[in-house]
Amino acid sequence: MSASILIVEDEEPIQILLSYNFEAEGYRVRATAQGEEVARLVNEERPDLIVLDWMLPGISGIEVCRLLRTRPETRDIPIIMLTARGEENERVRGLATGADDYLVKPFSVPELLARVRTILRRANPDAVAEVLKAGDIALDRRARRVTRSKRDIELSPTEFRLLEHLMQNPGRVYSRSQLLDAVWGRDIYVDERTVDVHVGRLRKSLQRGRESDPIRTVRSMGYAFDERFGAA
Ligand code: CA
Repeated sequence: MSASILIVEDEEPIQILLSYNFEAEGYRVRATAQGEEVARLVNEERPDLIVLDWMLPGISGIEVCRLLRTRPETRDIPIIMLTARGEENERVRGLATGADDYLVKPFSVPELLARVRTILRRANPDAVAEVLKAGDIALDRRARRVTRSKRDIELSPTEFRLLEHLMQNPGRVYSRSQLLDAVWGRDIYVDERTVDVHVGRLRKSLQRGRESDPIRTVRSMGYAFDERFGAA
């Protein structure tokens, strides 16, 4: 089962951005703007990780963190704290109260996703697969290595991330703009055609001779890793 993430963030655009990106990565997501809601949501279902904003109306993120750490049943839930720039002292306090990691706003979404993956892997190795496999293709996240039928496939870092993203959710169709956000990051302006160029290169690298194409182009929608790939 996919890992579940609880987002506690009162700034709506950030909450939406995070929910969207975590869902695209295949996580189950719940979100709230209220620190007061956290205890109830955690009781309802224990999340595998909490992304917690520092500045919340009412009870603050740091207070939420402290409360979670005092209860034995929630003590071990990994927490990533979000802080605003200029709260460096508070940041240190945040870590002291037991957050596992922190990011200063504005942060890059791919960076946050990478940190979440690292923490989840540490906390629960089964929640994040080290090696994604489909048919004769294997993608090793830790070694940053891709093989097909045991031969090494040379990919650029962008193509690696693109393949990783698609392989995480076989069958799920991603639009070009979703892929841009997830692979290139929101801060960088890249034309949507860039996605087509990189998918083209990725296909070329992955296929030799009569090998089948693992990537499906969905007309006027985008791309997906073919869920039937390797099934035959
Ligand atoms: Ca806030």
